[in-house]
Amino acid sequence: MNQEDRNKLAELLFPNIDKDRNYYEEKYPERDLPDGAMVTRFGPSPTGFVHMGSLFGSFCDSVFAKQSNGIFFLRIEDTDQKRSVENGVDGIFNDLDAFDIIPDESSRVGGNYGPYIQSERTEIYQTYVKDLIKQGYAYPCFMTEEEIADIREEQEINKTKLGIYGVYAQDRDLSLDEIENKISQGEEYVIRLKSPGNDKNEVEIVDCVKGKIKFPENDMDIVLLKKDGTPTYHLAHVIDDHLMHTTHVIRGDEWVSSIPLHVQLFDILGFKRPEYVHTAAITKKENGNIRKLSKRKDPEAKVSYYDEVGIPIDAVKLYLATILNSNFEEWYLQNSDKTIDDFTFTFDKMAIGGTLFDLDKLNNISKTYFSHKSGEDVFEETLNWAKRHDKEYAKLLEENKENMIKFLSIEKDSARPRKDISKYSDVREEFSYAIDELFIKENYSKLTSEKNYDIALMEKYVETLNLKQTNEEWFEGVKEFSVNNGYASNNKEFKKAPDAYKGHVGDVCEIFRVVITGRTASPDLYSIMQILGIDKIKERIELYKKFKEID
Ligand code: GLU
Repeated sequence: MNQEDRNKLAELLFPNIDKDRNYYEEKYPERDLPDGAMVTRFGPSPTGFVHMGSLFGSFCDSVFAKQSNGIFFLRIEDTDQKRSVENGVDGIFNDLDAFDIIPDESSRVGGNYGPYIQSERTEIYQTYVKDLIKQGYAYPCFMTEEEIADIREEQEINKTKLGIYGVYAQDRDLSLDEIENKISQGEEYVIRLKSPGNDKNEVEIVDCVKGKIKFPENDMDIVLLKKDGTPTYHLAHVIDDHLMHTTHVIRGDEWVSSIPLHVQLFDILGFKRPEYVHTAAITKKENGNIRKLSKRKDPEAKVSYYDEVGIPIDAVKLYLATILNSNFEEWYLQNSDKTIDDFTFTFDKMAIGGTLFDLDKLNNISKTYFSHKSGEDVFEETLNWAKRHDKEYAKLLEENKENMIKFLSIEKDSARPRKDISKYSDVREEFSYAIDELFIKENYSKLTSEKNYDIALMEKYVETLNLKQTNEEWFEGVKEFSVNNGYASNNKEFKKAPDAYKGHVGDVCEIFRVVITGRTASPDLYSIMQILGIDKIKERIELYKKFKEID
């Protein structure tokens, strides 16, 4: 086909496209950003909710843009209507909002490079494809699904590469007359790339994470525009990331194999190639095997899971930072007073293979997160969470605010604060002794099935209890009380002559702790007793007796 025919073909296929690519090149000029600023984008399909893998991607996008004084934008990739669900876009915004991952530009906040929803950009894609038709890099293809299936079967039998390329690209060289004819007969068509590539040649790209990668050149005549005139992912990616001036395409490594096609499209369209940052898939270990985190099988794959179980968003983000850069964890250990924003992330510290998503590790990070929070903060955050997920507990928290903060503040000023909570939902159980309504005699059931605690000893002790003492004075008193009642004043002494004693001071404290808190482990017991006060302690003794049916 000569140039004149190609121009006619372009008009025949796109009679309504009256702009040319210069219009868009001028409309979307280079961004005015400082040197080194990265422009990143998150391109989710509105499938209803954000998968942990995508959240990780958007987290990478936002940190790299932020730390380089660049731009992070959100582009809704809704060209595949089959994958889109109603309210899917809201779901994406809600999930990102919850994690405080806020795009600088999006369909909500706007920006100079929109529309930020691909279904609103059809005219742009068609303008560039019209130009490719004129240049001889695209053509209408009328092959039916059956014809394509037959070709595939033949290729499978012959064990040749699958796809529409070379001799299999039947409609590559149709004449203008033939095309006009088919169209006038109502035959449907897609627009395919007329690939100039040869798979005997190699292309090399440098991925920011994976380093140098070599591929055979693309020779596939892939679909650019579908029958309904909407673009495929490949075309939309190239045009959008060019016009929106993305500098770094951060995306999952399932797209690595599409690199030869994408760089070819950038080249024939005369666009500058972006940097590619292919992130490893988020994986999970199960029965010794490693597999991709699955939104069907794994509740933790859904980002809403974390709020439901009560893991603080900031703890999840700390974990994301840990898996984003292998040196983050070490840094954070030494700089726990700093935030993620103070760390400089780099591509060379990103995982090349799978990134293991380990809930136990996340729980540990979360425990550390809670341990650094003040009692007031833990109270406020827990109340906030409970208002949404445990209304009954929220009410109790509000009614017991003053004491609850005191309980949550115990041992907070120690050099190694306790790590007893990993989720907001743990507070109810861990601090059940703090709220009367939750402290029922059943609290004892787990603890006393094996042991018979000497309640008489506790009753005797409580008569001598003076809550005005310092912690040290109190403990000296307990030791003395222990010795006077047949217990050793410390474990070492007890071990030397176990038959001479009923136990040691630790055993005495365990009786007190169990009776008072219904638990064998708790924050500092004397602090708990001071907050509860003598009457409450006596009430607990009665409750314990009732439980044991002792009169
Ligand atoms: N819409 C694509 C997806 O859902 C985004 C890939 C990309 O970031 O380029 O996988």
